[in-house]
Amino acid sequence: MMIEGDTCGPYGAANDHVEESSLSPDALARLWPDDVQEIKRVAKVFPFRINRYVMGLIRSPGDPIWRQAVPDIQELEDLTGWEDPLAEETLSPVPNLVHRYPNRVLWLVSHECAMYCRFCTRKRRWQAPLPMTDDIFRAGLDYIRRHAEVKDVLLSGGDPLLLPLSRLENILAALSKISHVEIIRIGTRVPSMFPEKVTVQLAEMLARYHPIFINIHFNHPREITSESRRACMLLANAGVVLGSQTVLLKGVNDEAGTLGELFHNLLTMRVRPYYLMQMDLTRGTAHFRTPIAVGLQILRALRNRISGLAMPQFVVDLPEGRGKVVLTPNSVDAIEGDLLVIRDYQGNQCQYPLLPGEGTELGRWLAV
Ligand SMILES: *Cc1c(COP(=O)(O)O)cnc(C)c1O
Ligand code: SF4
Repeated sequence: MMIEGDTCGPYGAANDHVEESSLSPDALARLWPDDVQEIKRVAKVFPFRINRYVMGLIRSPGDPIWRQAVPDIQELEDLTGWEDPLAEETLSPVPNLVHRYPNRVLWLVSHECAMYCRFCTRKRRWQAPLPMTDDIFRAGLDYIRRHAEVKDVLLSGGDPLLLPLSRLENILAALSKISHVEIIRIGTRVPSMFPEKVTVQLAEMLARYHPIFINIHFNHPREITSESRRACMLLANAGVVLGSQTVLLKGVNDEAGTLGELFHNLLTMRVRPYYLMQMDLTRGTAHFRTPIAVGLQILRALRNRISGLAMPQFVVDLPEGRGKVVLTPNSVDAIEGDLLVIRDYQGNQCQYPLLPGEGTELGRWLAV
């Protein structure tokens, strides 16, 4: 199965999804041994999409892949949180383009996803997606053209790698003609959840538009398979700089051993862990939320035990579109005169000599 350019229609539909209606009774029974009706109720509000590859990754109901893919009644029971916690709609000067930081924009160029991740921050869009029509595309492009401060364009969606190849190439070609756009980034879940969509043709096309950075969404070591390895290899060999984003999910990956294995294995595919993300406050996702301390504990447990290259930053995306904030576990206990009292990675306290008089200023930075 390959992306065949224009044969798939202009706005993506190039998918071989297994939708609810096409699942065999056997497959349904395998996914939901208990109450199929209940799950169908959830799917009316928050649809699901599980392709053959993801079906193959699921070993049993309740496992880490199943929890990410299969509707759960708790989605309807959660009335906390926001429909759009990051205020993306408010921060959109034109449809599908979010301008939150001074020098970069997030451009939602695709409304197709390899699967509907139950914890998705944009699940508000699943029922009524806002496809990128030619008009919306031109408006976004014009906006970027008129804003010379935009040096970095982050393509997301949905998933840009599910667009027909020619459509994605049009976008990249148009951006590459704008001289102030210096970097193009793509956020995708295709290499982890629909790896066969990463083709030689796609890799060769991307290589014409460097510098291209791709951040791949990986949440669990079981998402690393020979197929996803092959997809990453094609992209890395094409000179694409690969990073990963991982959402910290209760009952899926909220444990140092699991994430340590994931981050290390990502490095073996030339994927550099970039962000570990605290769950957004999205309505219908509260059952995935961990206390913030869990993320900090996991990073503390992994620091110096796995390669520093494998360590992502832990970020919280603040409500109302105030942006991402990096949180790090605190290692400093106190400043005593010209001595910093600090804990090593094994938890043992030690002293680090400061320059004379440095302590007061340093205390402000470290909040001790
Ligand atoms: C996350 C995000 C970015 C990119 O942020 P980086 O920290 O540079 O990776 C840009 N715009 C929006 C709206 C975002 O949510
Ligand atoms: S692939 Fe990304 S945009 Fe699509 S449902 Fe998953 S998290 Fe959301």
